[in-house]
Amino acid sequence: MSVRAYGAHAADKPLESIDIERRAVGAHDVQIAIAYCGVCHSDLHQVRSEWDGTRYPCVPGHEIVGHVTAVGGDVTKFKVGDTVGVGCLVDSCQHCSACDEGLEQFCENGFTGTYNGRTADAPGHTLGGYSQSIVVKDDFVLKISHAPEQLAAVAPLLCAGITTWSPLRHWKAGPGQKVGIVGIGGLGHMGIKLAHALGAHVVAFTTSDAKRQDALDLGADEVVVSRNAEEMAAHANSFDFILNTVAASHDLDAFTTLLKRDGTLTLVGVPEHAHPSPNVAALIFKRRAIAGSLIGGIAETQEMLDFCADKGITAEIEMIAIQEIDAAYERMLKSDVKYRFVIDNATLAA
Ligand code: NAP
Ligand code: ZN
Repeated sequence: MSVRAYGAHAADKPLESIDIERRAVGAHDVQIAIAYCGVCHSDLHQVRSEWDGTRYPCVPGHEIVGHVTAVGGDVTKFKVGDTVGVGCLVDSCQHCSACDEGLEQFCENGFTGTYNGRTADAPGHTLGGYSQSIVVKDDFVLKISHAPEQLAAVAPLLCAGITTWSPLRHWKAGPGQKVGIVGIGGLGHMGIKLAHALGAHVVAFTTSDAKRQDALDLGADEVVVSRNAEEMAAHANSFDFILNTVAASHDLDAFTTLLKRDGTLTLVGVPEHAHPSPNVAALIFKRRAIAGSLIGGIAETQEMLDFCADKGITAEIEMIAIQEIDAAYERMLKSDVKYRFVIDNATLAA
């Protein structure tokens, strides 16, 4: 089936309207009419080839929500009309030790990303959610139980939500823990909400003085402007865990030195240029760790969606028409996102 999408033909070309093919619905497939798609900073990194290996045409988008329009004969978990989501993964081998543990994002045979992943479907790589519809294997489709009017604000949970939820759970953020969230963008603002909902004492770190009040409103107990050395020094040696969502290269020592003994700084941002090498002594003397984390598995994504539906948690969003995507990217580069752009996919028809 031919559907309207928005994508780029090269790193230095703007996104434009293109028609793409979606495969016929197979026995285990779910066809989804996409209502909304969140705009992740990864979309920008990928489409502008800031990371290696972008395949063109590139249609980004991995924060997909919509409604089921058809299901294959062997699909039992979904039916036409269901409200569903698709995140960053659309396939994995489903039989390695990582997949067996529900950690499809670490599939030893390589997962298939929602965009830029190798696939048998034309044009040989996956095309994402800046499109009218998508066909996805049932095991990679998520159920959404939020109220219908919250649907657009649920979209960012599919990447920003799970990418912050997974490390917060893995490093056991909860009551009695002091947790830092660095960077108040799409991921960071979800990190603040989720860490707060899990019961941790949350400190938000921002480079933007103007986001102070917003950070408190999102659920932070304290806010630190990271450019202010005095404010930073007041928190030395005090954190159990810090989640760093920053999308640009920066000095990590500023944050490792805020960890207590055995504390962990976990990186989820994937900047175009490497961070300066961290100070090893700052790690050794207090057995501090620097770690990384990649999105989350399918079961964990469902757990996060259900937790958020139960607690009434959604993202703070700014809705855009697809034709505004380049302007949205420029604002994202200036850290001017309040706090996630979400595309109204109905505008693809314009
Ligand atoms: P975003 O909305 O642009 O937010 C990033 C935030 O980082 C900005 O709002 C800003 O917050 C802060 N920041 C930006 N430039 C900075 C600089 N030079 N120094 C310090 N802080 C800076 O991006 P996002 O969508 O949240 O994505 C963040 C990163 O995570 C991207 O690199 C993305 O590719 C990556 N990502 C990783 C995974 C994963 O699985 N690991 C998943 C999704 C995304 P303040 O204004 O508060 O400083
Ligand atoms: Zn993302």
